[in-house]
Amino acid sequence: MITLALSKGRIFEETLPLLKAAGIEVLDDPEKSRKLILTTNQPDVRLLVVRATDVPTYVQYGGADVGITGKDTLLEHGMEWGGSGGLYQPLDLQIAKCRISVAAKADFDYASAVKQGSRLKVATKYVAIAREFFASKGVHVDLIKLYGSMELAPLVGLADAIVDLVSTGNTLKANNLVEVEHIMDISSRLVVNQASLKLNPEPIRRMINAFASAIPA
Ligand code: AMP
Repeated sequence: MITLALSKGRIFEETLPLLKAAGIEVLDDPEKSRKLILTTNQPDVRLLVVRATDVPTYVQYGGADVGITGKDTLLEHGMEWGGSGGLYQPLDLQIAKCRISVAAKADFDYASAVKQGSRLKVATKYVAIAREFFASKGVHVDLIKLYGSMELAPLVGLADAIVDLVSTGNTLKANNLVEVEHIMDISSRLVVNQASLKLNPEPIRRMINAFASAIPA
């Protein structure tokens, strides 16, 4: 049995065509079903639906053999800064593409604040990525950890700026925020438990190859 961990929402939707191209069809609808383990048309492949931030944990500790998660999540989990933590990362699936950026209120002079060496208050869910980015620029920041709706923080004076994922830019625009720095491009990655790959190389390699040939150009 191969267990694949995925999160609901954007990544799940964009993974379905890849699964289909790999010959895997999901038999339950995760948006309707309360089941957390979804069956597929392949008796030896099942899907776990978990929180995005839990995908690396499930794969790292072998609760799932394979997972699909954003580069942002892997970086926050500490997977890319150094040790691989038992995770093998064979593929950039080129799905759920977006960027991680710094944004501030349109009337906040971010460039001058940085130039003057002001201490910035930055609200984000991505504290590891933000800490690394601002440290590499030599900018002093106080990071405020939030779990969602980061866009609200500058509007109510909780922070000078935010670090968040941006796709179309519509959410920033709707909240009178502008992107002031591009930190990095993000896409979803396939991650594999190294021990699973050793124990069960055939079906996992087959899955990796099927995904590889289904990646959008
Ligand atoms: P947008 O308005 O298209 O720029 O999307 C921005 C909102 O969607 C923000 O709240 C982001 O956190 C979220 N978002 C954008 N892209 C992604 C992605 N690939 N995965 C998860 N959340 C995303």
